[in-house]
Amino acid sequence: MSHPLPASHDVDTPHDSPDDIAHDVAQAARALWHTNGTNTTTGSTPPHLPTGDERGRIDAVPDIIDRASPLTPPRRDMTASGADFHALHAPASPPKHDPTSDARLDETERLAALRRYEILDTPPEPAFERIVHLASHVIDVPISLVSLIDETRQWFKARQGIDTAQTPRSMAFCAHAILEDDVLVVSDARADPRFADNPLVTGAPNIRFYAGAPLRTPEGHRLGTLCVMDRRPRTLDAEKRTLLADLSALVVDALELRRVNRVLGDMAMRDGLTGALNRRAFLVQAERQFSAARAQQRRLSVLMLDIDHFKRINDTWGHAVGDRVIVELTLIMRATLRKGTVIGRLGGEEFAVLLPEADAQRAVQAAERLLIAIGGASMPGASGSKGLTGPIRFSASIGIGSLTPDDAEFGSLLQRADRALYAAKQSGRNRVAVM
Ligand code: GH3
Ligand code: MG
Ligand code: MG
Repeated sequence: MSHPLPASHDVDTPHDSPDDIAHDVAQAARALWHTNGTNTTTGSTPPHLPTGDERGRIDAVPDIIDRASPLTPPRRDMTASGADFHALHAPASPPKHDPTSDARLDETERLAALRRYEILDTPPEPAFERIVHLASHVIDVPISLVSLIDETRQWFKARQGIDTAQTPRSMAFCAHAILEDDVLVVSDARADPRFADNPLVTGAPNIRFYAGAPLRTPEGHRLGTLCVMDRRPRTLDAEKRTLLADLSALVVDALELRRVNRVLGDMAMRDGLTGALNRRAFLVQAERQFSAARAQQRRLSVLMLDIDHFKRINDTWGHAVGDRVIVELTLIMRATLRKGTVIGRLGGEEFAVLLPEADAQRAVQAAERLLIAIGGASMPGASGSKGLTGPIRFSASIGIGSLTPDDAEFGSLLQRADRALYAAKQSGRNRVAVM
């Protein structure tokens, strides 16, 4: 087949989640394809490949951690001994408190950092609960919070002594505290012009005393605070300030650990070469979707796809080029299939694709689109030892199984797709078959 690859806007509802980890890994691998010197034969970039200067390594998965924040954070205490760090990351002369116009926060980046933690509106977690209990206990206050400053609200990841889960940002003492490097202490809110009119001061919970230590990420973003409050005026001695700052650093540690665990969990589900779900994760996901589709009498199809004569590609161009063909195939699948399509690498050059809401007819249409896109892809290749030059083209065969009322488990669907794949191979390859 030599149809040109449809431009992405011609393709039926392509993926629109470029931040997906699978996409990142595949993009990194694709960038490698263009940077290892094999692209010299044509000097041009195939239309479906990026034209920018993206540089990456095929083993880019650890970069996903690095990009969000370093695993070894710099010192981030808020006491005097942390001054060197702050000198690097904070402006020389902080302006007075004005949460609406303070450019120091670089609000867009701060909010982006907050989003990366994927913590807003999540259920309570013991690590944060423990810290607020500890803060209330050691500072001897009725109220303590882990407050995160979102765009228009403050939301409490952990709270003690207060019922509400969030307040408008305009009421938040913490919105002021995140402008500070050090602990912000308000001894008597009624006597402080910034807070005297605040509804949290004039009405319930009648805050008088406030102390908040910024939650400063390793990158230097202040996401919110660990704060304590009392209904009577108070002071906070230096030792307690340091304690509050230390506890806020523990909150950040817990946030980091949580985020890294999530990234590692995601990586464990994915194939390192392509970023597609690995076999086990695909089957878990497939069983889930299968059960839901069966219970709700919805349609579901599965494709099994296998690259044709892949051994020849390896034999001709080498294993590394074979790997890149596999990556290229993944990118084509992601660009061509509908959003919400689950792609798994079952092994080698064999993939499975779940198509929710698709009967056999729609699955065939999707499969044919895929084959056209694959047929239109060509990649530069050169094998110095054999005196060969590209372009490299490849094809694939696809088998389809669609859910019937008789299917009691996903395995039977997959088996039909597998038998169909075998039939597609037997009848000449580069084609779609249905069982
Ligand atoms: P068919 O059209 O019947 O599918 O033929 P084929 O050559 O694609 O199938 P076969 O099963 O004979 O060969 C698949 C080859 O894929 C053999 C194996 O060495 C190679 N392979 C498996 N996993 C990988 C991988 O991760 N990278 C590369 N480069 N090759 C792989
Ligand atoms: Mg094959
Ligand atoms: Mg195979």
